[in-house]
Amino acid sequence: MFISSGINITPFDGTSVKVAVIGAGPAGLTAAYQLSQLGHQVMVFEADSQYVGGISRTVVQDGFRFDIGGHRFFSKSAFIEDFWTEILGDEMLTRPRCSRIYYRGRFFRYPLAFPEALWKLGLWEATRSVGSYAWARLFPRPQPDNFEDWVRNRFGQRLYEIFFKTYTEKVWGMSCREISADWAVQRIQNFSLGVALRQALQSRNPSQKKVKTLIEQFRYPRLGPGQMWETVAAKIKAQGQTICMGQHICQLEHRPGPSWILRNSRGESFGPFDQVISSAPLSELLPHLHPRLSPLALQAAQALRYRDFVVVGVMAKNGQNLPEQWIYLHDPSFKAGRVQNFRAWSPDMVPGPDYNGFGLEYFCSKGDTLWEQSDAEWQKLARQEIVRLGLVRESEILQLRVIRQSRAYPVYDQHYTSHLAQLRQEMNAHFPGFHFVGRNGMHRYNNQDHAMMTGWLTALNIAAGHPQYDVWEVNEDAEYHENAATSGLRQVPFLKAREDE
Ligand SMILES: Cc1cc2nc3c(=O)[nH]c(=O)nc-3n(C[C@H](O)[C@H](O)[C@H](O)COP(=O)(O)OP(=O)(O)OC[C@H]3O[C@@H](n4cnc5c(N)ncnc54)[C@H](O)[C@@H]3O)c2cc1C
Repeated sequence: MFISSGINITPFDGTSVKVAVIGAGPAGLTAAYQLSQLGHQVMVFEADSQYVGGISRTVVQDGFRFDIGGHRFFSKSAFIEDFWTEILGDEMLTRPRCSRIYYRGRFFRYPLAFPEALWKLGLWEATRSVGSYAWARLFPRPQPDNFEDWVRNRFGQRLYEIFFKTYTEKVWGMSCREISADWAVQRIQNFSLGVALRQALQSRNPSQKKVKTLIEQFRYPRLGPGQMWETVAAKIKAQGQTICMGQHICQLEHRPGPSWILRNSRGESFGPFDQVISSAPLSELLPHLHPRLSPLALQAAQALRYRDFVVVGVMAKNGQNLPEQWIYLHDPSFKAGRVQNFRAWSPDMVPGPDYNGFGLEYFCSKGDTLWEQSDAEWQKLARQEIVRLGLVRESEILQLRVIRQSRAYPVYDQHYTSHLAQLRQEMNAHFPGFHFVGRNGMHRYNNQDHAMMTGWLTALNIAAGHPQYDVWEVNEDAEYHENAATSGLRQVPFLKAREDE
């Protein structure tokens, strides 16, 4: 069992709680694993009939393995890092990071090294970029509450257009002016062109301590993220707990007692359970709650928006050993937003040294022309784009596999925080024993580690019999994405004990 400093784990007092967990992704499985370790009964319900791991699953075909977007394993929490080590031991590889941006036929280092970027842009474009940065510093947009204004103030209009706008709009399918500045704050934090140039100057001066800002390596399971979650699921089952696959929970009934009954898409019932932990999308589950939510809360649940995602796996016979794990396609002439090179994540993601497996990533929304394409149309598009990028020749492609992931990204629009506040308030007041966890389960842009942390803390709260930790205080922490922890401390920085403790 994992014990981290600053965490209270209530010892099992012989009173077992019966808990239903909706979703066998990182959040649900971490909660189930921890509850099981603490002596409670859990039953996990997973909609997918084949894979556990949710968005962190690994799809396998003919010896090629594909992530739903490459999944780096990196956390500033000792608990999470230790958890991964305990589960997979030596199967967790440490990989040097290598990623690039592709823009107008050129490759730029990513995370962006601005001096190099300005150099590669050429004299005219670099002068325009620096000039527009100076202009933005002199005349910043007041109260920047959307992505465009926020980034423009820090990098200038021109660099915003080249390095932020195209990719961000591909990801979200909306204008950067409609995207909340929260997203920029989370991704970029206090970074700006000025900071980047200052850091570049410091790093040239040997007397200055090098400011380590960018993650240079990360961990990754030898067989992809699915290996982690398949192993956790096997351990949960080995402890005598149940994981029910192919069970899409469509209805939740809260009865006095309190107790909970779950119903699947075929109308079969499960329960009663003392508590429910849900990582299912809020907009999908909460409208099917009995008794019904108030009209205001129902409206809030249904107003939450998502972005969907398609990865087209390209299986190729090609012995080329490219160092890049992924390449962002900022070039607007490509529909794909990013391409993954899975062999550079782990050599065992492909059947052997003569093979390469790529994943072209497309961001779309259910109902739009991209999402609605047939598999054959997806394959044609991906084939054209990967050949145009020069990563493989047409003749080297063996087959392509289309993998659709709905609700891959919870959208941070200008209203999501008030919708969430409404839902939390009503659920807390009228539905004791319901616990929000994970990414779509909390409508938070959580990575695996934060999704896991919410599951873990929820398990501790249930074991304690009262809320000890506020899972909403587990933040997405922008530093996670691109900046390394400089302190070296690996405790649990995301926790805040509740005020009433
Ligand atoms: C393109 C992309 C790249 C990413 N890269 C990284 C990365 O590099 N590193 C990282 O740490 N994280 C990354 N993430 C984030 C990571 O995938 C998520 O944080 C993580 O999977 C969230 O875990 P979760 O359990 O909350 O949700 P999910 O992974 O969404 O799992 C939820 C599970 O619940 C099931 N479910 C949903 N509704 C129901 C229902 N009604 N009944 C039964 N089952 C249901 C789903 O089928 C799913 O299996 C990435 C995400 C994306 C989209």
